[in-house]
Amino acid sequence: MSAEGLVILGATGSVGESTLAVVAENPGRFPLVALTARSDDARLFAQCVEHRPAFAVLVEEAAAARLEARLADAGLPTRVLAGVDALIEVVELPAVGRVMAAIVGAAGLLPTLAAARAGRQVLLANKESLVMAGHLLMEAVREGGGELVPIDSEHNAIFQCLPNGDGGAQGVRRLILTASGGPFLDTPLEQLSQVTPDQACAHPNWVMGRKISVDSATMMNKGLEIIEACWLFDMPPERVDVMIHPQSIVHSMVEYEDGSVLAELGAPDMRTPIAHALGWPQRIRSGAPWLDLVGTAPLDFRVADEARFPCLRLAREAARRGGTHPAVLNAANEEAVAAFLDGEVAFLDIARVVGAVLDTLPAEPVTSLEQVLAVDTAARAEARELIAALQGASA
Ligand code: NAD
Ligand code: MG
Repeated sequence: MSAEGLVILGATGSVGESTLAVVAENPGRFPLVALTARSDDARLFAQCVEHRPAFAVLVEEAAAARLEARLADAGLPTRVLAGVDALIEVVELPAVGRVMAAIVGAAGLLPTLAAARAGRQVLLANKESLVMAGHLLMEAVREGGGELVPIDSEHNAIFQCLPNGDGGAQGVRRLILTASGGPFLDTPLEQLSQVTPDQACAHPNWVMGRKISVDSATMMNKGLEIIEACWLFDMPPERVDVMIHPQSIVHSMVEYEDGSVLAELGAPDMRTPIAHALGWPQRIRSGAPWLDLVGTAPLDFRVADEARFPCLRLAREAARRGGTHPAVLNAANEEAVAAFLDGEVAFLDIARVVGAVLDTLPAEPVTSLEQVLAVDTAARAEARELIAALQGASA
């Protein structure tokens, strides 16, 4: 990596803010080239005051105009850019060495791909881009000559447990992703039809954005993570297992042919994987609390129940079929989760919508970015039709 500069895509989100906290723990080490967000100009302004990036990007034009005026009033030199293309513009600036990809959902795909093509070290939180277009993103990393360092706590743990951060040839028997099970791990099944968005977002161990919080409650998050692990570590889906571990202390494991199992442990705090990835291959301070194993014991491990969590099964099937099916899964899920958060459909409808869209659209081999984007659009349209029908049925 020639340049040192850091861009944080999705700076105002949960991962973005944790990244800024790690940057602040290590003064002078990670010069900030740009912070980006969709529309939260008030939050981005506060971040500009505190962290002094060279550029600030807002996708929404009106929000960008407000930010520009506030920065001018405050006499700050940060330059404001507006629109989706500006996300790509900033990752391509020559001063940039690292890009934290922390936009939520499919909106992260194009800037993450651009960062990879430009040869940046991509710190990948935006798992949806690998799920949608893993083939294209891995190819872009190879061709750009940069690297991909996982931020997702499970994948960061596995990265730390593999000798060179990769899988396949190293005598690995299987990867074991741990899952907390989310807020509904022990909720009686007959109550799941009634749960509210706020209940679904109340994660027992992690504080996260609302979309990933719902994904954790359905365990679609773990399903997306199976697909993410296959791409990152070159593993077939049948060698990526899921184990419930309600305390979220063991962040994932690698089982080797000789019977050794390596695990990474820590407090459930995203600052640890973020600091690992930012500092890698060195170790830097994260500001996360130290792990108190005696205080947290005992640690439990259980089988993941696919009857309780049908999204896990749907994601596994999409991983097995491959091609465009993971992109279909992701798009249908994003639409269904947004509808659930907006109070349009019930919690259990999320899996119904995703399953029905997967049954409707075929799995085709991935040939181009245009094809993936067209599949994403088609799957969203299909999902929205089903959501409208479900609303009609319940009205
Ligand atoms: P969040 O909702 O808290 O933040 C999302 C960020 O993306 C915000 O800065 C927002 O402005 C930006 N954004 C949203 N839509 C956008 C758009 N259309 N264009 C440009 N920017 C947009 O989300 P989060 O919880 O921080 O998650 C971010 C990503 O990291 C997700 O892919 C998630 O799966 C992954 N992740 C999060 C956690 C966690 O602890 N929060 C852990 C592992 C992985
Ligand atoms: Mg995770």
